[in-house]
Amino acid sequence: MRWFDPLLDVLLPPACAVCDEVLPAPGAFCERCAHEVLELPSVHCRICAEPGRFVRDTCERCAIEGAPWNRAWAPFEHDGAIARAVHRYKYEDRSDLSRPLGMLLLERSRHVLDQMPGVIVPLPLHDARFRSRKFDQAAQLARVLCTYSGRTLELDWLMRIKDTRRQVGLSEDARAANVRGAFRASRHVANQHLVLLDDVLTSGATAREACRVLRAAGAKRISVLTLARARSLLASGRPSPLAP
Ligand SMILES: [Zn+2]
Ligand SMILES: [Zn+2]
Repeated sequence: MRWFDPLLDVLLPPACAVCDEVLPAPGAFCERCAHEVLELPSVHCRICAEPGRFVRDTCERCAIEGAPWNRAWAPFEHDGAIARAVHRYKYEDRSDLSRPLGMLLLERSRHVLDQMPGVIVPLPLHDARFRSRKFDQAAQLARVLCTYSGRTLELDWLMRIKDTRRQVGLSEDARAANVRGAFRASRHVANQHLVLLDDVLTSGATAREACRVLRAAGAKRISVLTLARARSLLASGRPSPLAP
């Protein structure tokens, strides 16, 4: 499938999302970096995709708290080449990675997407964060996904009404408190089935709060899809204090 604008191909040849090596054909990674891409381990929590082997395939967090979504899944583990590419994308002003990463997400999640609802709702950034980052990575990934899969993009179904601190370095409870009241859902979500889309799922505190608000507004079925899933529990099943 050809998905690069022919004119852009001349100006900007496809390059590796990690090391910028020019690629012979459109794609996300050069051969060397592709070796450092980790797929989501096949053994993971059936509710939140936390990697690991758990009783009844349900991690300790989901067993205790349940989850406000029907299923969360990601094609990749947040490590290696994927983690480096996501970091460049979000924090190094590389909005040009929207297309290769969005296409990668589409290609590697097709089998799961086919079982998910057809409406995609990106997890929104607050306006202040949007202005400093200049683009909204979840909205861009969602746009690419919808353009090339025929799904419907709904940018106004979920709004961020509170600018929150970054979750990095916060404890589990602090993460939940930090995002409480951060979202407002449109009345259009009533009785809808939708996919909430973001770049990375870590503890899931932000996605949980977003889903709680969507549910309160009447959303019937919510799937969460992200490009990557970070390990957020230690082997003991306790939350990892070092989780990104
Ligand atoms: Zn590379
Ligand atoms: Zn879980």
